[in-house]
Amino acid sequence: MQTTPILDVQHVSKTYHTGAGPLTVLKDISFCLTVGTTCAVVGPSGSGKTTLLGLCAGLDRPSSGTVILHGHTLNLLSEDALATLRNTDVGFVFQTFQLIPTLTALENVMVPVELRGDRRARAYAVDLLQQVGLGDRLQHYPVQLSGGEQQRVALARAFIGQPRILFADEPTGNLDAETGEMVIKLLFTLHQEAGTSLILVTHDFEFAQQAQRIIRLRGGMIVEDSGPPQRHSQGTGPWAPGGTASEPLQPAR
Ligand code: ADP
Ligand code: MG
Repeated sequence: MQTTPILDVQHVSKTYHTGAGPLTVLKDISFCLTVGTTCAVVGPSGSGKTTLLGLCAGLDRPSSGTVILHGHTLNLLSEDALATLRNTDVGFVFQTFQLIPTLTALENVMVPVELRGDRRARAYAVDLLQQVGLGDRLQHYPVQLSGGEQQRVALARAFIGQPRILFADEPTGNLDAETGEMVIKLLFTLHQEAGTSLILVTHDFEFAQQAQRIIRLRGGMIVEDSGPPQRHSQGTGPWAPGGTASEPLQPAR
């Protein structure tokens, strides 16, 4: 079993300075995830889930405390170094899909690896779109796709860079129950095949229970944490470490 941390959050707090004075939305959050594990973050609206994901993914900085992502202490990195780390190590899936409307499904998926100048981007993107069941929608624009299809394109885009860790912020929030279930199933399948660590924010108890660990936030604090799993999958698919896929994409470091 892997015990290497992928994400180590130590005493993190976040205070926004608003017109009405300081607003502390996260208070002394600490937890550590090991490589390849899955974790659900649950809690009422406004409890700080999105803020926490943003800090963990290096999209924002904490007011105090430390976030260590794959051995990198985020507080110590410049904006440029953070951007590079996000491009190579982090995937993000949003509730509102966030596809680029002027690009086709295929082009949307290619964007993250094209930015690295990898010429195999197209073949990988086609492969991933086939994996998410959209092999016949490559040239469709987002507006020509259903919500579930758009989110599947977003999943393919999030996985194409072979991130070490994937953050999904209420990825089924805008989908009907059946489509949501399909997207979650796909998310866990891709996680398992690629060995990607996964943090999923969800309101759905059944989806949360599929994760190996559940962290519950209320009022910016962890009020419940099921703790690290005793055992976890390490990824068995072709893109997993030691898998059978051809040479993995090399980030332009
Ligand atoms: P959740 O995702 O659990 O619904 P959020 O992390 O989005 O919660 O927000 C937590 C709290 O922080 C909310 O009360 C929200 O209004 C506040 N908040 C979020 N972003 C900002 C910001 N940029 N400035 C001020 N307050 C914010
Ligand atoms: Mg939120």
